[in-house]
Amino acid sequence: MRKLMSALVAILTAFSVVGAHAQPSPDIQADAAAKPALTWKAAAATAVITPKDNMWMAGYAARKAPSEGVAQQLFAKALALEGTVGGPFVLVTSDIIGIRREVRDAVAERCRSEFALPPERLLLNASHTHCGPEYRPRAGREEEAKNYQRFLEETLVRIVGEALRKRKPAAVGYTQARCGFAMNRRRNYALAAGDPLASRAPTYDGPVDHDVPVLTVRDESGALLAVAFGYACHNTTLSSVTVPPEPPRYLFNGDYAGFAQEHLQKSFPDCTAMFVNGCSGDQNPYPRRDEVPGVLPLQLAEHHGRTLAYSVVAAMNAGERPLTGAIQAAIGDVELTRNGGKPSHSYPVQVVRFGDQVTLAALGSETVVDYALRLKGELKSPLVWVAGYTNDYSGYVPSRRVAVEGGYEAANDFSLDVEDRIVGQVRRLLGKVNGVAAD
Ligand SMILES: [Zn+2]
Repeated sequence: MRKLMSALVAILTAFSVVGAHAQPSPDIQADAAAKPALTWKAAAATAVITPKDNMWMAGYAARKAPSEGVAQQLFAKALALEGTVGGPFVLVTSDIIGIRREVRDAVAERCRSEFALPPERLLLNASHTHCGPEYRPRAGREEEAKNYQRFLEETLVRIVGEALRKRKPAAVGYTQARCGFAMNRRRNYALAAGDPLASRAPTYDGPVDHDVPVLTVRDESGALLAVAFGYACHNTTLSSVTVPPEPPRYLFNGDYAGFAQEHLQKSFPDCTAMFVNGCSGDQNPYPRRDEVPGVLPLQLAEHHGRTLAYSVVAAMNAGERPLTGAIQAAIGDVELTRNGGKPSHSYPVQVVRFGDQVTLAALGSETVVDYALRLKGELKSPLVWVAGYTNDYSGYVPSRRVAVEGGYEAANDFSLDVEDRIVGQVRRLLGKVNGVAAD
Protein backbone atom coordinates (compact mmCIF):
# COMPACT_ATOMS: atom_id res chain seq x y z
CA MET A 1 0.00 0.00 0.00
CA ARG A 2 2.83 2.38 0.87
CA LYS A 3 4.39 1.82 -2.55
CA LEU A 4 1.03 2.40 -4.21
CA MET A 5 0.62 5.67 -2.31
CA SER A 6 4.13 6.74 -3.29
CA ALA A 7 3.35 6.05 -6.92
CA LEU A 8 0.16 8.12 -6.69
CA VAL A 9 2.05 10.96 -5.03
CA ALA A 10 4.67 10.80 -7.79
CA ILE A 11 2.03 10.96 -10.51
CA LEU A 12 0.07 13.80 -8.87
CA THR A 13 3.26 15.70 -8.17
CA ALA A 14 4.33 15.23 -11.78
CA PHE A 15 1.25 17.02 -13.07
CA SER A 16 1.29 19.86 -10.56
CA VAL A 17 5.03 20.48 -10.80
CA VAL A 18 5.13 20.44 -14.59
CA GLY A 19 2.26 22.92 -14.70
CA ALA A 20 3.91 25.27 -12.23
CA HIS A 21 7.46 25.19 -13.66
CA ALA A 22 8.65 24.31 -10.16
CA GLN A 23 11.67 22.25 -9.20
CA PRO A 24 11.12 18.58 -8.39
CA SER A 25 10.23 18.22 -4.75
CA PRO A 26 11.57 15.58 -2.36
CA ASP A 27 8.15 13.89 -2.10
CA ILE A 28 8.66 12.24 -5.49
CA GLN A 29 11.37 10.02 -4.00
CA ALA A 30 10.84 6.36 -4.54
CA ASP A 31 10.82 4.07 -1.52
CA ALA A 32 14.25 2.78 -0.67
CA ALA A 33 14.37 -0.97 -0.72
CA ALA A 34 14.38 -2.26 2.84
CA LYS A 35 17.93 -3.34 3.74
CA PRO A 36 18.95 -4.53 0.28
CA ALA A 37 21.35 -7.43 -0.10
CA LEU A 38 24.70 -6.01 -1.22
CA THR A 39 25.61 -8.75 -3.69
CA TRP A 40 27.12 -6.36 -6.27
CA LYS A 41 30.02 -3.94 -6.43
CA ALA A 42 29.25 -0.68 -8.18
CA ALA A 43 30.24 2.96 -8.57
CA ALA A 44 29.60 5.84 -10.92
CA ALA A 45 31.84 8.66 -12.17
CA THR A 46 30.92 11.86 -14.00
CA ALA A 47 32.75 14.45 -16.10
CA VAL A 48 31.67 17.63 -17.85
CA ILE A 49 32.18 17.35 -21.62
CA THR A 50 30.90 20.79 -22.60
CA PRO A 51 33.51 22.30 -24.95
CA LYS A 52 35.69 24.85 -23.17
CA ASP A 53 35.28 27.26 -26.08
CA ASN A 54 32.45 27.85 -28.51
CA MET A 55 32.55 25.48 -31.46
CA TRP A 56 30.35 24.21 -34.25
CA MET A 57 27.26 22.32 -33.05
CA ALA A 58 26.11 18.92 -34.29
CA GLY A 59 22.77 17.70 -35.60
CA TYR A 60 21.21 20.47 -37.65
CA ALA A 61 22.82 21.27 -40.97
CA ALA A 62 20.88 24.56 -41.10
CA ARG A 63 23.05 26.20 -38.43
CA LYS A 64 25.02 29.10 -39.81
CA ALA A 65 27.43 29.80 -36.95
CA PRO A 66 29.25 28.13 -34.02
CA SER A 67 27.79 27.95 -30.49
CA GLU A 68 27.30 31.10 -28.44
CA GLY A 69 27.33 29.74 -24.92
CA VAL A 70 25.90 27.12 -22.58
CA ALA A 71 22.28 26.65 -21.49
CA GLN A 72 23.09 23.39 -19.68
CA GLN A 73 26.34 21.53 -19.13
CA LEU A 74 26.94 18.33 -21.10
CA PHE A 75 28.12 15.25 -19.20
CA ALA A 76 29.68 11.86 -19.73
CA LYS A 77 28.99 9.30 -17.02
CA ALA A 78 30.35 5.84 -16.30
CA LEU A 79 28.74 3.14 -14.17
CA ALA A 80 30.89 0.16 -13.18
CA LEU A 81 28.93 -2.93 -12.12
CA GLU A 82 30.32 -6.23 -10.93
CA GLY A 83 28.29 -9.31 -10.03
CA THR A 84 29.32 -12.47 -8.28
CA VAL A 85 31.49 -13.75 -11.18
CA GLY A 86 32.76 -12.59 -14.56
CA GLY A 87 34.44 -9.31 -13.64
CA PRO A 88 33.20 -5.74 -14.02
CA PHE A 89 31.12 -4.22 -16.79
CA VAL A 90 31.07 -0.46 -17.49
CA LEU A 91 28.14 1.43 -19.00
CA VAL A 92 29.06 4.88 -20.37
CA THR A 93 26.43 7.45 -21.35
CA SER A 94 27.09 10.86 -22.85
CA ASP A 95 25.29 14.07 -23.84
CA ILE A 96 26.63 14.09 -27.37
CA ILE A 97 25.43 13.53 -30.93
CA GLY A 98 26.98 10.08 -31.30
CA ILE A 99 29.92 7.84 -30.50
CA ARG A 100 32.12 7.74 -33.57
CA ARG A 101 33.57 4.31 -34.26
CA GLU A 102 37.13 5.55 -33.91
CA VAL A 103 36.26 6.95 -30.46
CA ARG A 104 34.76 3.63 -29.43
CA ASP A 105 37.80 1.70 -30.65
CA ALA A 106 40.35 4.06 -29.07
CA VAL A 107 38.58 4.15 -25.69
CA ALA A 108 38.00 0.38 -25.66
CA GLU A 109 41.67 -0.29 -26.45
CA ARG A 110 42.90 2.01 -23.70
CA CYS A 111 40.45 0.54 -21.17
CA ARG A 112 41.69 -2.93 -22.10
CA SER A 113 45.35 -2.03 -21.68
CA GLU A 114 45.04 0.30 -18.67
CA PHE A 115 42.26 -1.40 -16.67
CA ALA A 116 42.21 -4.94 -18.13
CA LEU A 117 38.59 -4.32 -19.13
CA PRO A 118 37.65 -6.59 -22.08
CA PRO A 119 36.02 -4.67 -25.00
CA GLU A 120 32.74 -6.59 -24.69
CA ARG A 121 32.44 -5.32 -21.12
CA LEU A 122 32.45 -1.66 -22.14
CA LEU A 123 29.33 -0.03 -23.67
CA LEU A 124 29.37 3.56 -24.98
CA ASN A 125 25.97 5.17 -25.64
CA ALA A 126 25.18 8.69 -26.86
CA SER A 127 22.04 10.70 -26.05
CA HIS A 128 22.06 12.14 -29.60
CA THR A 129 21.48 15.68 -28.36
CA HIS A 130 21.41 18.05 -31.32
CA CYS A 131 22.76 20.82 -29.07
CA GLY A 132 26.21 19.40 -28.43
CA PRO A 133 29.54 19.84 -30.25
CA GLU A 134 30.15 18.68 -33.81
CA TYR A 135 33.32 16.64 -33.66
CA ARG A 136 33.21 15.09 -37.11
CA PRO A 137 35.79 16.94 -39.22
CA ARG A 138 34.26 19.95 -40.93
CA ALA A 139 35.90 21.91 -43.72
CA GLY A 140 38.07 24.61 -42.21
CA ARG A 141 37.52 23.33 -38.67
CA GLU A 142 39.40 20.05 -38.72
CA GLU A 143 41.64 21.07 -35.82
CA GLU A 144 38.68 22.01 -33.61
CA ALA A 145 37.05 18.60 -34.22
CA LYS A 146 40.30 16.72 -33.65
CA ASN A 147 41.00 18.54 -30.39
CA TYR A 148 37.51 17.86 -29.06
CA GLN A 149 37.67 14.19 -30.02
CA ARG A 150 40.97 13.85 -28.18
CA PHE A 151 39.45 15.55 -25.12
CA LEU A 152 36.38 13.27 -25.32
CA GLU A 153 38.47 10.09 -25.53
CA GLU A 154 40.67 11.17 -22.61
CA THR A 155 37.61 12.01 -20.52
CA LEU A 156 35.80 8.74 -21.24
CA VAL A 157 38.87 6.68 -20.33
CA ARG A 158 39.33 8.71 -17.14
CA ILE A 159 35.76 8.22 -15.86
CA VAL A 160 35.80 4.49 -16.71
CA GLY A 161 38.95 4.17 -14.59
CA GLU A 162 37.45 6.24 -11.80
CA ALA A 163 34.21 4.22 -11.70
CA LEU A 164 36.19 0.96 -11.62
CA ARG A 165 38.43 2.20 -8.78
CA LYS A 166 35.52 3.42 -6.66
CA ARG A 167 33.51 0.16 -6.74
CA LYS A 168 31.96 -0.74 -3.39
CA PRO A 169 29.24 -3.14 -2.19
CA ALA A 170 25.83 -2.25 -3.59
CA ALA A 171 22.41 -3.62 -4.45
CA VAL A 172 21.29 -3.53 -8.07
CA GLY A 173 17.64 -3.57 -9.09
CA TYR A 174 15.58 -3.37 -12.26
CA THR A 175 12.14 -2.13 -13.15
CA GLN A 176 10.20 -0.57 -16.01
CA ALA A 177 7.55 2.06 -16.74
CA ARG A 178 6.19 3.90 -19.75
CA CYS A 179 6.41 7.45 -21.03
CA GLY A 180 4.41 8.87 -23.90
CA PHE A 181 5.90 11.95 -25.54
CA ALA A 182 7.78 10.08 -28.28
CA MET A 183 5.89 9.73 -31.52
CA ASN A 184 6.68 8.14 -34.84
CA ARG A 185 7.83 10.89 -37.17
CA ARG A 186 7.81 9.10 -40.50
CA ARG A 187 5.17 10.24 -42.88
CA ASN A 188 3.26 7.73 -44.88
CA TYR A 189 5.44 7.91 -47.98
CA ALA A 190 2.84 6.33 -50.18
CA LEU A 191 0.12 8.83 -49.21
CA ALA A 192 2.34 11.90 -48.92
CA ALA A 193 4.36 11.45 -52.09
CA GLY A 194 5.49 14.80 -53.38
CA ASP A 195 4.43 16.76 -50.29
CA PRO A 196 7.62 18.19 -48.72
CA LEU A 197 5.70 19.48 -45.68
CA ALA A 198 4.72 15.96 -44.72
CA SER A 199 8.34 15.01 -44.02
CA ARG A 200 9.02 14.14 -40.40
CA ALA A 201 5.61 15.12 -39.10
CA PRO A 202 4.00 13.21 -36.21
CA THR A 203 2.36 10.02 -37.41
CA TYR A 204 -0.13 9.28 -34.66
CA ASP A 205 -0.71 5.64 -35.53
CA GLY A 206 2.93 4.83 -36.34
CA PRO A 207 4.93 2.32 -34.26
CA VAL A 208 6.50 3.57 -31.01
CA ASP A 209 8.43 2.08 -28.09
CA HIS A 210 7.28 3.86 -24.94
CA ASP A 211 9.06 1.56 -22.48
CA VAL A 212 11.36 3.11 -19.87
CA PRO A 213 13.67 0.33 -18.66
CA VAL A 214 15.47 1.20 -15.42
CA LEU A 215 18.51 -0.16 -13.55
CA THR A 216 19.07 1.09 -10.01
CA VAL A 217 22.13 0.99 -7.75
CA ARG A 218 21.60 1.44 -4.00
CA ASP A 219 23.82 1.45 -0.92
CA GLU A 220 23.28 -0.41 2.34
CA SER A 221 20.76 2.18 3.55
CA GLY A 222 18.73 1.91 0.34
CA ALA A 223 19.81 5.34 -0.91
CA LEU A 224 19.92 5.62 -4.69
CA LEU A 225 23.53 5.93 -5.92
CA ALA A 226 22.88 5.58 -9.63
CA VAL A 227 20.01 5.06 -12.02
CA ALA A 228 20.33 4.16 -15.69
CA PHE A 229 17.19 4.50 -17.77
CA GLY A 230 16.28 4.13 -21.43
CA TYR A 231 13.86 5.82 -23.79
CA ALA A 232 13.42 5.62 -27.56
CA CYS A 233 13.09 9.20 -28.76
CA HIS A 234 15.23 11.50 -30.88
CA ASN A 235 16.78 14.07 -28.59
CA THR A 236 15.47 16.90 -30.74
CA THR A 237 12.94 19.04 -28.91
CA LEU A 238 14.94 22.07 -29.95
CA SER A 239 15.50 23.20 -33.49
CA SER A 240 18.24 25.24 -35.10
CA VAL A 241 15.91 27.95 -36.28
CA THR A 242 15.39 31.18 -34.40
CA VAL A 243 12.01 32.85 -34.42
CA PRO A 244 12.45 36.54 -33.48
CA PRO A 245 12.48 37.91 -30.81
CA GLU A 246 13.96 34.69 -29.37
CA PRO A 247 17.67 34.60 -28.73
CA PRO A 248 19.60 32.43 -31.19
CA ARG A 249 19.51 28.72 -30.35
CA TYR A 250 23.21 28.26 -30.32
CA LEU A 251 23.56 27.24 -26.69
CA PHE A 252 24.94 23.87 -25.64
CA ASN A 253 22.44 21.70 -23.75
CA GLY A 254 21.38 18.06 -23.39
CA ASP A 255 17.78 18.58 -24.70
CA TYR A 256 15.09 16.47 -22.96
CA ALA A 257 17.57 13.75 -21.96
CA GLY A 258 19.81 16.32 -20.28
CA PHE A 259 16.87 17.70 -18.33
CA ALA A 260 15.61 14.23 -17.35
CA GLN A 261 19.02 13.45 -15.84
CA GLU A 262 19.19 16.86 -14.17
CA HIS A 263 15.75 16.46 -12.58
CA LEU A 264 16.57 13.01 -11.23
CA GLN A 265 19.86 14.22 -9.77
CA LYS A 266 18.10 17.13 -8.08
CA SER A 267 15.53 14.74 -6.60
CA PHE A 268 18.11 12.17 -5.46
CA PRO A 269 21.17 14.15 -4.38
CA ASP A 270 23.59 11.19 -4.14
CA CYS A 271 22.52 9.78 -7.47
CA THR A 272 24.20 9.74 -10.88
CA ALA A 273 21.38 9.62 -13.45
CA MET A 274 22.27 8.15 -16.84
CA PHE A 275 20.22 8.28 -20.03
CA VAL A 276 20.50 5.49 -22.63
CA ASN A 277 18.91 6.30 -25.99
CA GLY A 278 16.89 3.55 -27.66
CA CYS A 279 15.92 2.70 -31.23
CA SER A 280 14.69 6.20 -31.92
CA GLY A 281 15.78 6.79 -35.51
CA ASP A 282 12.15 7.48 -36.50
CA GLN A 283 10.85 8.86 -33.18
CA ASN A 284 10.56 12.54 -32.26
CA PRO A 285 9.40 14.27 -29.07
CA TYR A 286 6.07 16.04 -29.50
CA PRO A 287 5.33 18.85 -29.13
CA ARG A 288 8.64 20.33 -30.16
CA ARG A 289 10.27 23.42 -31.61
CA ASP A 290 7.71 26.26 -31.79
CA GLU A 291 4.60 24.09 -31.81
CA VAL A 292 3.22 25.51 -28.54
CA PRO A 293 2.59 29.25 -28.78
CA GLY A 294 4.33 31.18 -26.03
CA VAL A 295 6.51 28.25 -24.93
CA LEU A 296 10.18 28.37 -25.83
CA PRO A 297 11.70 25.16 -27.21
CA LEU A 298 14.11 24.97 -24.26
CA GLN A 299 11.11 25.02 -21.91
CA LEU A 300 9.51 22.20 -23.90
CA ALA A 301 12.73 20.20 -23.59
CA GLU A 302 12.62 20.74 -19.84
CA HIS A 303 8.98 19.59 -19.72
CA HIS A 304 9.76 16.42 -21.62
CA GLY A 305 12.78 15.81 -19.41
CA ARG A 306 10.71 16.15 -16.29
CA THR A 307 8.03 13.86 -17.72
CA LEU A 308 10.66 11.19 -18.40
CA ALA A 309 12.18 11.69 -14.93
CA TYR A 310 8.78 11.07 -13.34
CA SER A 311 8.37 7.91 -15.39
CA VAL A 312 11.68 6.68 -13.94
CA VAL A 313 10.40 7.46 -10.44
CA ALA A 314 7.09 5.77 -11.23
CA ALA A 315 9.01 2.68 -12.35
CA MET A 316 10.94 2.59 -9.07
CA ASN A 317 7.77 3.10 -7.02
CA ALA A 318 5.80 0.54 -8.97
CA GLY A 319 8.05 -2.41 -8.27
CA GLU A 320 11.82 -2.52 -8.20
CA ARG A 321 13.15 -6.07 -8.24
CA PRO A 322 16.60 -7.23 -7.15
CA LEU A 323 19.00 -8.20 -9.91
CA THR A 324 20.84 -11.40 -9.08
CA GLY A 325 23.74 -13.23 -10.67
CA ALA A 326 26.46 -11.71 -12.82
CA ILE A 327 26.99 -9.82 -16.04
CA GLN A 328 27.82 -11.62 -19.28
CA ALA A 329 28.59 -9.69 -22.44
CA ALA A 330 29.55 -10.20 -26.08
CA ILE A 331 30.33 -7.82 -28.93
CA GLY A 332 30.92 -8.28 -32.63
CA ASP A 333 30.50 -6.65 -36.02
CA VAL A 334 28.12 -7.73 -38.72
CA GLU A 335 28.61 -6.63 -42.32
CA LEU A 336 25.71 -4.57 -43.69
CA THR A 337 25.64 -4.52 -47.48
CA ARG A 338 24.29 -1.63 -49.52
CA ASN A 339 22.56 -1.33 -52.85
CA GLY A 340 24.17 -0.30 -56.08
CA GLY A 341 27.68 -1.48 -55.28
CA LYS A 342 28.15 1.06 -52.48
CA PRO A 343 30.67 0.03 -49.81
CA SER A 344 29.30 -2.19 -47.05
CA HIS A 345 29.39 -1.09 -43.42
CA SER A 346 30.94 -3.00 -40.55
CA TYR A 347 28.30 -2.58 -37.86
CA PRO A 348 28.83 -3.23 -34.14
CA VAL A 349 26.29 -5.14 -32.04
CA GLN A 350 26.67 -5.73 -28.31
CA VAL A 351 24.60 -7.99 -26.05
CA VAL A 352 24.73 -7.78 -22.27
CA ARG A 353 22.91 -10.00 -19.81
CA PHE A 354 22.53 -8.33 -16.43
CA GLY A 355 22.07 -11.14 -13.95
CA ASP A 356 19.32 -13.57 -14.83
CA GLN A 357 16.71 -10.91 -15.43
CA VAL A 358 17.73 -8.17 -17.90
CA THR A 359 18.94 -8.66 -21.48
CA LEU A 360 20.30 -5.56 -23.23
CA ALA A 361 20.78 -5.56 -27.00
CA ALA A 362 22.82 -2.47 -27.89
CA LEU A 363 22.85 -1.52 -31.58
CA GLY A 364 25.01 1.01 -33.38
CA SER A 365 23.86 4.30 -34.90
CA GLU A 366 20.30 5.42 -35.58
CA THR A 367 18.13 2.30 -35.63
CA VAL A 368 14.41 2.73 -36.23
CA VAL A 369 11.92 1.55 -33.62
CA ASP A 370 11.05 -1.70 -35.43
CA TYR A 371 14.27 -3.22 -34.04
CA ALA A 372 13.18 -2.69 -30.45
CA LEU A 373 9.68 -4.02 -31.06
CA ARG A 374 10.93 -7.12 -32.87
CA LEU A 375 13.64 -7.98 -30.34
CA LYS A 376 11.29 -7.46 -27.39
CA GLY A 377 8.84 -9.81 -29.08
CA GLU A 378 11.40 -12.48 -29.90
CA LEU A 379 13.94 -12.58 -27.06
CA LYS A 380 13.12 -14.42 -23.88
CA SER A 381 14.06 -12.50 -20.76
CA PRO A 382 12.08 -10.96 -17.89
CA LEU A 383 13.15 -7.55 -19.23
CA VAL A 384 14.48 -6.94 -22.75
CA TRP A 385 16.18 -3.57 -23.17
CA VAL A 386 17.11 -2.43 -26.67
CA ALA A 387 19.47 0.53 -27.11
CA GLY A 388 20.54 2.37 -30.26
CA TYR A 389 23.30 4.99 -30.66
CA THR A 390 25.85 2.60 -29.18
CA ASN A 391 29.50 2.21 -30.17
CA ASP A 392 28.99 3.72 -33.65
CA TYR A 393 27.58 6.80 -35.32
CA SER A 394 27.10 6.38 -39.04
CA GLY A 395 23.57 7.51 -39.87
CA TYR A 396 20.19 5.81 -40.07
CA VAL A 397 19.66 2.07 -39.95
CA PRO A 398 16.27 1.15 -41.41
CA SER A 399 14.26 -1.98 -40.71
CA ARG A 400 13.13 -4.07 -43.65
CA ARG A 401 9.79 -2.22 -43.61
CA VAL A 402 11.46 1.20 -43.67
CA ALA A 403 14.00 0.13 -46.31
CA VAL A 404 11.10 -0.99 -48.53
CA GLU A 405 9.15 2.23 -47.94
CA GLY A 406 12.20 4.42 -48.54
CA GLY A 407 12.47 8.04 -47.43
CA TYR A 408 14.62 9.91 -44.93
CA GLU A 409 15.58 7.03 -42.63
CA ALA A 410 16.40 4.77 -45.59
CA ALA A 411 18.95 7.18 -47.08
CA ASN A 412 21.95 4.92 -46.34
CA ASP A 413 20.59 2.53 -48.96
CA PHE A 414 21.20 -0.68 -47.03
CA SER A 415 20.07 -3.93 -48.63
CA LEU A 416 16.65 -5.27 -47.65
CA ASP A 417 18.24 -7.94 -45.47
CA VAL A 418 19.68 -5.28 -43.09
CA GLU A 419 17.19 -6.10 -40.32
CA ASP A 420 17.69 -9.86 -40.51
CA ARG A 421 21.47 -9.45 -40.48
CA ILE A 422 21.37 -7.31 -37.33
CA VAL A 423 18.81 -9.46 -35.51
CA GLY A 424 20.82 -12.54 -36.53
CA GLN A 425 23.92 -11.00 -34.95
CA VAL A 426 21.99 -10.25 -31.75
CA ARG A 427 20.95 -13.91 -31.61
CA ARG A 428 24.51 -15.16 -32.24
CA LEU A 429 25.90 -12.94 -29.49
CA LEU A 430 23.11 -13.87 -27.11
CA GLY A 431 23.93 -17.53 -27.74
CA LYS A 432 27.55 -16.77 -26.84
CA VAL A 433 26.49 -14.92 -23.70
CA ASN A 434 24.23 -17.78 -22.66
CA GLY A 435 26.89 -20.35 -23.49
CA VAL A 436 24.77 -22.10 -26.14
CA ALA A 437 24.88 -22.19 -29.92
CA ALA A 438 22.55 -19.74 -31.64
CA ASP A 439 19.50 -21.17 -33.33
ZN1 LIG B 1 19.25 11.58 -35.68
